Amino acid sequence: MEEQSFDSLQLSQNLPLSQDSFQELWQSVITADILTISSPNVAQPWRGDEHIELLNEQTLTEGFDENLFELPAETLTTDAVTPPASTVPVTTDYPGKYGFQLRFQKSGTAKSVTSTFSELLNKLYCQLAKTSPIEVLVEKEPPQGAILRATAVYKKTEHVADVVRRCPHHQNEDVAEHRSHLIRVEGNQRAQYFEDVHTKRQSVTVPYEPPQLGSEITTILLSFMCNSSCMGGMNRRPILTILTLETPEGQVLGRRCFEVRVCACPGRDRKTEEENSTKMQNGTKQTKKRKSAPAAATASVKKSKPASSAEEEDKDVYVLHVRGSERYEMLKKINDGLELLDKESKKSKVSVKPEVPLPSSGKRLLQRGERSDSD
Ligand SMILES: [Zn+2]
Repeated sequence: MEEQSFDSLQLSQNLPLSQDSFQELWQSVITADILTISSPNVAQPWRGDEHIELLNEQTLTEGFDENLFELPAETLTTDAVTPPASTVPVTTDYPGKYGFQLRFQKSGTAKSVTSTFSELLNKLYCQLAKTSPIEVLVEKEPPQGAILRATAVYKKTEHVADVVRRCPHHQNEDVAEHRSHLIRVEGNQRAQYFEDVHTKRQSVTVPYEPPQLGSEITTILLSFMCNSSCMGGMNRRPILTILTLETPEGQVLGRRCFEVRVCACPGRDRKTEEENSTKMQNGTKQTKKRKSAPAAATASVKKSKPASSAEEEDKDVYVLHVRGSERYEMLKKINDGLELLDKESKKSKVSVKPEVPLPSSGKRLLQRGERSDSD
């Protein structure tokens, strides 16, 4: 998204909601730029704005109160305690002394599945606005009044400073008070939506409830209200969801993180991404195997691959299987010659190119040997 000037911001405040261009939609919900103004005493060229009028009347003599900059639509629950603001949320797992853990239902990768979790990738795949049950386990009963908090954060370092919010399109078509929040808790009247005054990060909390009789888990229902691909929102940037167990005062007792992808086909995407991940791992193993697999009645020949420059030395060692001692001796001589050449060039510290056209790669070496034999 482009940086917007204050002029365009001012215009956008009064735009009707039925915009047909994306740029206007975006501007109608953006609030961050107003909040970056920290000194109301400085003459602003955009004083016509009604928020600023309010500011001028009330705060010029009293100093700056940033709460005044809140959009009227953003309802802040100010009577509840928010945890100390941290610009970059912590995303490391921490079971803590209550043994805080999460568990996900096994939903598989069927086409019809609306929410499914990959243990392999520690990643939840779900559809927009569909409920994902998340099972909370503790080893020890947390203190009275403990809460569970869900926060979304961008996974990649280059995006982590940005606050995760819903895209303008989905915000505008929603009437809920917490319509800018990506994560919602479903089926719980005691869910509370927060926006940190300083970091602007949004979170939702529910009171921790001990498991019902005969059960070891407490289930909370989360839904994600934008697709990962939403323009002007996540915009294809991967996110993590942080679930924390906290005291009523906001002290963190335990933390669990998992990646989330909100998409049209969670089952398919999970399958694809798991397969790709497995392929990558197996691919590496197979290559290693091939390189080092010993075979009976074979001799190994060390050979050097051509390096793009003499400085760029390929230190990988390849094993070549050669049939017959005669051919082995011949190839060994070539290899020894090349090794010697390498040593010589290192000694003189001058990049020496072979004067005679020596075979430059292992593959060609083998082919030559074979050909000369069959000819
Ligand atoms: Zn969206």
